[in-house]
Amino acid sequence: MEWNEFAHWGKHIADWGADYHKNMRDLPVRAQTAPGDIAMQLPATPPDNAEAMETIMADFEAIVMPGMTHWQHPRFFAYFPANAAPASMLAEMLVTTMAAQCMLWQTSPAATEVEGVMIDWLRQALGLADGFTGVIQDSASSATLSAVLTMRERATGYTGNRDGISDKGHLRVYCSDQVHSSIDRACWVSGIGQANLIKIPTQGSRHAMDVQALKTAIAADRAAGHTPAGIIAVTGGTGVGACDTLGPLLDVAKAEDLYTHLDAAWAGSAMICPEFQQDFWADVDGFDSIVFNPHKWLGAQFDCSVQFLRDATPQLNTLKIEPEYLKTSGESVTNYSEWTIPLGRRFRALKIWFLLRSYGLEGLRTRIRNHVKWAHELCEMLRGLDGFEIVTEPILSLFSFRCPGSDADQQKLVDALNDDGRIYVTQGMFGDRKVIRFQVGQFDTTRDDVMMAYTVIKEIWEQGI
Ligand code: PLP
Repeated sequence: MEWNEFAHWGKHIADWGADYHKNMRDLPVRAQTAPGDIAMQLPATPPDNAEAMETIMADFEAIVMPGMTHWQHPRFFAYFPANAAPASMLAEMLVTTMAAQCMLWQTSPAATEVEGVMIDWLRQALGLADGFTGVIQDSASSATLSAVLTMRERATGYTGNRDGISDKGHLRVYCSDQVHSSIDRACWVSGIGQANLIKIPTQGSRHAMDVQALKTAIAADRAAGHTPAGIIAVTGGTGVGACDTLGPLLDVAKAEDLYTHLDAAWAGSAMICPEFQQDFWADVDGFDSIVFNPHKWLGAQFDCSVQFLRDATPQLNTLKIEPEYLKTSGESVTNYSEWTIPLGRRFRALKIWFLLRSYGLEGLRTRIRNHVKWAHELCEMLRGLDGFEIVTEPILSLFSFRCPGSDADQQKLVDALNDDGRIYVTQGMFGDRKVIRFQVGQFDTTRDDVMMAYTVIKEIWEQGI
C-alpha cells in the first residue's frame, strides 16, 4: 500500500470504527470461538506477493472479528475495564500517524512537555500535594517494578545495580495478602524473590493490611538480620477491591525508614471525585510512589499508566543510564526515558490531553459516580435473589457474590453467563471460596446495561447451569 491510498483507507476505518461502536450491544461480549479456530484460517506461510487492502480488510472482518472479545462493550463487567473514550482514540490515531519515538526531550519536545503538564493536571485532579512529579508508563506492572527496584537500590546504598545483590542478605518487601500479582512479579524480577515478599493478613470491611501484624513482621525480620526495604499498599485490589488504611501504614514506613509505593491501578481514577479522595486517600501524600492507570477507569485508551513520585531522585538514581548515543547537548531538559525501564516511549500524554479537554473533569466524575451507584443498586438486587449471597460488599464499583452451590457451581454460572454472551463476568477467590466478581466501569455503560445484568443472571440461573 502506498501513501496515496492512505487517506481512503483511513476514512474507511474511521467509519468502520464508528459503526462498530454503534452496533456493539448486538455482539456477544466475550469471543465465542474455540482455541485454534482463528489460527486455522490463516495461511501457514507469509505472502510472497502484495495483496490488495480490500482483501486484507475483508479477511480482517471475516477471520479476526469473530475472535475478538469486545472490551469496549457496555456490558463488559469482567476483570477491570480497559477503556477507550472516543476523544482519546482520536489522539491515539494522531500519535500512530506521527509515529514518533519520544525517549528524549529532543526526540519530540512536545511529547515531553505535554507529558509534564498532564502529570501535573492529573496530580491536581487526584488531589495530590504540589511537590509530586511523575512519568507515564505502559503499565502498572512497569511502574511497580520501577518502585521495587528503587526500594532495592535505596536499601543497598545504590550498589545493587553495580554489584548485584547476591551478598546483600534478604531484602524484605511488605504488602497485604490482597495485592495484584504484578507485585509478586516485581519481586521476582528485581532479584528480591518471592520468599522475601511478606504478605500481611487483612482485616475489616475494606480488607486492609493489619498494621500491628506488619510491625511484628518487620521487627522479626530485623531480629533475624534481614533488611526491610519497602512497603507496598493498595487502594482497590483486583480481587475484591481491598483498600489499605494509608496513614498508620505510612507511620510504620517512616519509623522504619522504608520506601513506599501505592498501587491504585484501578481505583486511582475514582480519586478525581473529592468524596472518594476523602474516603479512601487520607494521608496519601506521604507515599514515595503512586501508580494509577488512566486506561482502566478514566477513559484513556490502553496503554496509559501514571506513576507519581514525591521525589524523583531515588528512581532516577536507580534507572538513569546515559551512554554517549543518548547524550544531548547543553540544555536542562527532562528525558523521561531515564525514569523508566524501557528506553523507547510512545507519546501517551496526548490522549490524556484530549480526554480531559473533551469531557472535562466533571464529565468524567459523573461517569464514575454513576458506575458506583449502579454497582450498589445491582448488588442489592442480587442480594434479594433466592439463595444468592453477597460475599464482599461494594468497594467503589466492585463487589462479589455467590449463587447457591459449590465452588464448581460458581464457575459453571460464570461460564454459562459468558457463553450466553450478553454480559461478561469473571471469577475470583476470597479466602478459600470462589466468588463471582462484578465491576461496573466501561465508558459507555448505562444504567439499563447494568440492570440487564440482573435479568441475564436470574434467567441463566433459573434455566439451570
Ligand atoms: N494492580 C491492580 C490493582 C490491578 O488490578 C492490575 C490489573 O488489573 C494491575 C496492578 C496490573 O496492571 P497492568 O496491566 O497495567 O500492569
